[in-house]
Amino acid sequence: MQFPFSRHLLPVLLLLSMVSIMSAQTPSSSTNNTNTLAVRLIGPDGQPGPVVQSSRVVKTDAEWEKQLGPAAYRVLRAKGTEAPFCGNLLDNHKDGVYFCAGCGLPLFASSSKFNSGTGWPSFYRPFAPENITEIRDASLGMVRTEILCARCGGHLGHVFDDGPAPTHLRYCLNSVSLVFKDDAEVKKMGAEAAK
Ligand SMILES: [Zn+2]
Repeated sequence: MQFPFSRHLLPVLLLLSMVSIMSAQTPSSSTNNTNTLAVRLIGPDGQPGPVVQSSRVVKTDAEWEKQLGPAAYRVLRAKGTEAPFCGNLLDNHKDGVYFCAGCGLPLFASSSKFNSGTGWPSFYRPFAPENITEIRDASLGMVRTEILCARCGGHLGHVFDDGPAPTHLRYCLNSVSLVFKDDAEVKKMGAEAAK
């Protein structure tokens, strides 16, 4: 007596289980938002501000090339390296902040800049750890740690573990990846952002 009932119920059960599998595979909502990331911007006092959400900067290669010009494009977007002792920021000893040349994110402060003797601008810590992405780089027959701007993915250089105290890290940068703004400009930026 139960057979006819089960025979009718079976397709319904199959349909229900398919719906539940399909809904489980569908992203639950748009809260899985990969278009933003947590970074620190310039605070009102010119120091790193609180962690805030910022939109990722995504552009086509053609757009980057037009914005950056050939030298910065070759480094930031094609992972090139500028020649040592040639960058315009190597011997910059002014107080201020070094920003990403691609998207303007603050990346390094002059207070952590040191003379590494390598011919490239060097820092022992980033402006904020959130603002730098590190990835393993096994190119050129060696294993290094590449550093990128967290917001636009622009190639900055590499980080090594032979830097000075207190971090013993050496963030080795390409000048062309950076734009320097002095203390007065940075404080002005922070004050305007706080309005
Ligand atoms: Zn950037």
